[in-house]
Amino acid sequence: MFQTDYVKRVFEDLKKRNENEKEFLQAALEILESLESYIVKHPEIENNKILERFVEPERFLQFRVSWVDDQGEVQVNRGYRVQFNSSIGPYKGGLRFHPSVNASIIKFLGLEQVLKNSLTSLPMGGGKGGSDFDPKGKSDHEIMRFCQAFMTELYRHIGEDTDIPAGDIGVGAREIGYLFGQYKRIQNKTVGVLTGKGIPFGGSLVRTEATGYGLCYFTEEALKIMKNESFQNKTVIISGSGNVAIYACQKAKELGAKVIAMSDSNGYVYDSNGIQLEVVKSIKEEKRGRIKEYLSYVPTAVYQEGASGIWQLPCDIALPCATQNELDLEAAKALVKNGVIAVSEGANMPSTLEAAKYFIEKKIIYGPAKAANAGGVATSGLEMSQNSLRYSWSFEEVDQKLKDIMVQIFHNIYKVALELGNPYDTLSGANIAGFEKVAKAMLSLGIY
Ligand code: NDP
Repeated sequence: MFQTDYVKRVFEDLKKRNENEKEFLQAALEILESLESYIVKHPEIENNKILERFVEPERFLQFRVSWVDDQGEVQVNRGYRVQFNSSIGPYKGGLRFHPSVNASIIKFLGLEQVLKNSLTSLPMGGGKGGSDFDPKGKSDHEIMRFCQAFMTELYRHIGEDTDIPAGDIGVGAREIGYLFGQYKRIQNKTVGVLTGKGIPFGGSLVRTEATGYGLCYFTEEALKIMKNESFQNKTVIISGSGNVAIYACQKAKELGAKVIAMSDSNGYVYDSNGIQLEVVKSIKEEKRGRIKEYLSYVPTAVYQEGASGIWQLPCDIALPCATQNELDLEAAKALVKNGVIAVSEGANMPSTLEAAKYFIEKKIIYGPAKAANAGGVATSGLEMSQNSLRYSWSFEEVDQKLKDIMVQIFHNIYKVALELGNPYDTLSGANIAGFEKVAKAMLSLGIY
């Protein structure tokens, strides 16, 4: 598994200290394995214990969130924020509200975020947070009370130059509005402490669309450079039907592709005529309903229970945009057998390590999450710039900047993959390109 004693030792030690954190260890293993070729050429990494410090969060916060539901019952949830690494800028990363959230998931997301933010080329460190609160089935007032209770603790740990949270699974424009409102009231000041804000109170145009759009910009460039191809006339499947999936679908269609399937955690819809995005948006964004309701609008479509079956459908391009570990080796084999040419990750760590390695081995274009979905946080970085300037850019200006950043990210990671002698190893390309900048900053800042 490991070629060097140093990296092996770091991972073994991490395993001992975090033995029940399987997602965190999975993310760390993927990163550490692919950094080995860089580390052997840079003895200063081992001499300064950079890796040991890199995998240990600067700060990990866990707190109680008590709130009152519509029946007058007191509810208690657990809140988290990991401030993972601030060597290149203030901590930055989303908040996830989902019942599966625990320390392991928050730490895996935080570690990934450090490298992702570095890849954007903007000065942002990595953080992540959230709660095991389940927004599904809650009334609007319950969501508001929970967000207010969450921020009543979180506010003391964040700030516009310290730590700037944003959205993730279960945290969209509505939740950011309630969280921001509470921060403003407690602090009595209006600053850009959260991103993904509504346009009337400091949000950036394109932030809502950014992760999905960015994913397609990245993938389009990869298709062009690596296979002289494009989205034009390709069939695409997209898992999930949340923020990332919806805007990936919109941009893929604009670029000339036909999206034939989308999903949620219960199952997937297949529409051979092409998914009607307005229907999905209405079900998901307005009614907060289930994807199977698509059939009441489009009776010719097919619904299948079980989210993972989506990968068995033949397609040219697969965009996993739901959640971690949703695409395993078996799914990867089915995609390759059915002729997929590109798999680009909108979700964080959607492919298991075995699946990712299989794509690389089979010379499939593989867009690793930390590169391919960095458009969301990059546009959050642009929102921070606009807030500091007390200014807003037009949709076209932000969209162009997003496109430039995504194209640049592709070229940066592809260059490293070429130097490593395998153009398809964009996984190592992304990890090394992201890590190099963080390691240099850590070396310059003195031991901390
Ligand atoms: P949303 O909450 O808007 O949507 C999540 C989607 O994924 C829903 O369709 C949801 O289905 C599905 N999903 C969630 N959990 C599971 C599961 N366990 N199994 C199958 N499907 C599931 O979240 P986002 O679109 O914002 O986030 C999706 C992914 O993209 C996450 O991995 C997130 O970390 C990543 N990401 C998001 C960014 C952003 O800007 N929002 C930026 C970068 C990455 P259901 O409704 O049934 O739960």
